[in-house]
Amino acid sequence: TKIQVAIDGPASAGKSTIAKIIATQLGYIYVDTGAMYRTITLAAIRANLIQVGQTTVDEKVISDLLDNVQIGFAPSEDGQLVFLNETDITEDIRQADVNSLVSLIAAIPAVRTDLVERQRQLAATSSVVMDGRDIGTTVLPNAQVKIFLVASVAERAQRRFAENQAKGIDTDLTLAKIEESIARRDYLDSHREVSPLKQADDAVLVDTTGLSIAEVVTEITNLIHK
Ligand code: C5P
Repeated sequence: TKIQVAIDGPASAGKSTIAKIIATQLGYIYVDTGAMYRTITLAAIRANLIQVGQTTVDEKVISDLLDNVQIGFAPSEDGQLVFLNETDITEDIRQADVNSLVSLIAAIPAVRTDLVERQRQLAATSSVVMDGRDIGTTVLPNAQVKIFLVASVAERAQRRFAENQAKGIDTDLTLAKIEESIARRDYLDSHREVSPLKQADDAVLVDTTGLSIAEVVTEITNLIHK
């Protein structure tokens, strides 16, 4: 029988870091559903269908794009590569333009229906660790393990800031700007109509504020083996 581990939570709570480690430990595939919403967003930006600053979008125009967007994943040394129609877009989907527009794209019902279907197909092939916002509530409601990973917004912003400085990306973004952008995304994600960000009734809340990656991994590993 295939095992499903669902990890949901707000932006920059460490979901992907933790999910990757757990997936590797268990030998399951890791599905980064945020990367899928980001890839659709990037495709829309590149097709000039949306631009930074927009607060509404023509849903039909974006829906028409979906059939032409293939999303691929491939393992790499430091995590996972993401492809849009065979082009490596791993770095591009983490940029500020995608960050600012992704919640708008993710609120479109047709986009969610399409991606949820792709996510369920991936889970049908193998045991999975899947992270996102609606995995425990909507995508995999029967997942054997459901985690809702949170941390204070100040700590999430601080972690993102430190990561940016270490990697040399967006080094001009201040801590305050990062915190504002995270809080805005959380607000939009929790207030949209379709499957908003929400803890599933049967999910276990894990607050990682003040915890190291190793401590969080141990806590979740214990929950999986319970
Ligand atoms: O997880 P990540 O921060 O990369 O997700 C980017 C965005 O994609 C989220 O802010 C949210 O708008 C959307 N998303 C979603 N449902 C998911 C995963 C991500 O709506 N399951």
